[in-house]
Amino acid sequence: MNLKSVPKVELHLHLEGAAPPSFIRGLAQEKSISLDGVFTEDGGYRFEDFTQFLRVYEAACTVLKSPEDFYRLTKAVLENSREQGVVYTEAFLSPDFCGGGDLAAWRDYADAIEDAAGSEPEIEMRGVITCIRHFGPEQAKTAAVCAVETMGDFITGFGMGGDESVGHQGDYAYSFDMAREAGLGLTTHAGEWGGAESVREALDDLSVSRIGHGVQSIDDPALVERLAEDEIHLEVCPGSNVALGVYPSWDAHPIERLRKAGVLLSVSTDDPPFFHTDLSSEYDRLNAVFDWDIDRFFQVNKMAMDAAFCDKKTRDKIIKILETAND
Ligand SMILES: [Zn+2]
Repeated sequence: MNLKSVPKVELHLHLEGAAPPSFIRGLAQEKSISLDGVFTEDGGYRFEDFTQFLRVYEAACTVLKSPEDFYRLTKAVLENSREQGVVYTEAFLSPDFCGGGDLAAWRDYADAIEDAAGSEPEIEMRGVITCIRHFGPEQAKTAAVCAVETMGDFITGFGMGGDESVGHQGDYAYSFDMAREAGLGLTTHAGEWGGAESVREALDDLSVSRIGHGVQSIDDPALVERLAEDEIHLEVCPGSNVALGVYPSWDAHPIERLRKAGVLLSVSTDDPPFFHTDLSSEYDRLNAVFDWDIDRFFQVNKMAMDAAFCDKKTRDKIIKILETAND
């Protein structure tokens, strides 16, 4: 089955985390920045565990220094997505990596990223501003201000990524409240490392409509029921979970059990080059391990679009593309 041509919707992709290693290496050379320890001999990103992954990720980000760099990065990432059949994508954007959280600087970065997105008419892209959990609640407020001040047709959501072991979801409630009041869609990373309890915290304390990962909810049947009932959407990234050791194998991954329990979910790649994956490979794996067929992928992509942070016109347009391909 050729799944590459299936039109796909991706809701969980970190823009810097999707940077092709060759792009980062080239930029480092142009700028004469040394990136010792970031790459393996065969040119991929080097890390052994999640903490190291975050370190290498942040080191790679240091070569991205200007709006122009982010323009080029966005083009490179969208080109990869287009090759995977992606027709709608939401990317996590971090003002902390774009001018250190300064609002005036962030505006220039946001404009550059939006310009790059606009130059790729085959993909609709939206930006979800993320605060970085391990930078703390105070820094998160600056990300929320950046989100609120630049929201519009392109910036449509607010979320949180970073190290889930630091603090609690509720510590960031001020930032999420600010974003909610402004009308932004809300998502947060939970239940990747933090267990089912962290998903409960995210729902109770941040009132998000989507959860990044959320897969560990499977250990708590009452929570699974609540997710299904409240129509909370999980942005599931199986390849990322297996690569980082959240689950030992694809067979052990709970995506199919969650789906069968009625939880709304979709499939994303998180930081694809770090995990040696792309969206078509994820689909191939889901087909091989859980027998997902074209109809199943259509349903999942439609669920993604129902949960997407975009206006009705865009949603209708993308759903039409999905339906036409599935006819
Ligand atoms: Zn993520």
